[in-house]
Amino acid sequence: MKDMQSFGDLLDLQDVDLDIDRLLHTRGTLPILDDYKSAHGATVVAKGEFERLDGELKLASRDLDKAEGELEILEEKLGREEQRLFAGGMSARETENMRNEVISLRSKQSEMEDLVLGLIDAREALEQLTNAAGARLEELKAVEAKLEAEVAQAWKKIDAELARREGSKAEIVPLIPPDFLEMYERLRDAKQGVAISRLVDGVCGGCHLALSAAEQLEVAAEDPPLCLHCRRILVL
Ligand SMILES: [Zn+2]
Repeated sequence: MKDMQSFGDLLDLQDVDLDIDRLLHTRGTLPILDDYKSAHGATVVAKGEFERLDGELKLASRDLDKAEGELEILEEKLGREEQRLFAGGMSARETENMRNEVISLRSKQSEMEDLVLGLIDAREALEQLTNAAGARLEELKAVEAKLEAEVAQAWKKIDAELARREGSKAEIVPLIPPDFLEMYERLRDAKQGVAISRLVDGVCGGCHLALSAAEQLEVAAEDPPLCLHCRRILVL
């Protein structure tokens, strides 16, 4: 038969374990945790949007650089051919060809200038959108960081409580016979954390069902006594 001291120690251990369960549950279900998760989700979405726009902006900048480079080359070529035309000394046929070439280049130059202006406008519009998305992302990050700090603060308090309970548990556990402890752990897993309960006025504290005087005698004969209804360890 287990001695009464072991039952008392096990009840103490269960009180501490139930406190630990409660603290862990609180830790995982803090309302501010939901706020933080929402804020984190919003930041992830905003980051995706910013990166998408930033990527488009880089492409637009590249297109613009390319078009500006082509325009520059075209203008240099036009300048050279105009100089040759002004310098003279060519045959009438050569002069005519060169004049036609210059006209064609001027037309291309005008087209390229329109293209560059269009690309500048598009790039500017994208730059504004990207900057706005960047500012929005920074705002959301700040909100997320604030909530993260609040969660950390709340967890710190809970973790200090948990550490205190773990300390108490470490003191109680060595007092309990290993086989009894093993049974307790197994029952706790199966019985929603309550492995041992007192019989009060003939009623099991675990399942709240009554045991008759005859049933109590039957239970008392077992080692350890187990409730006939819920099979929890019963302290008589
Ligand atoms: Zn019971």
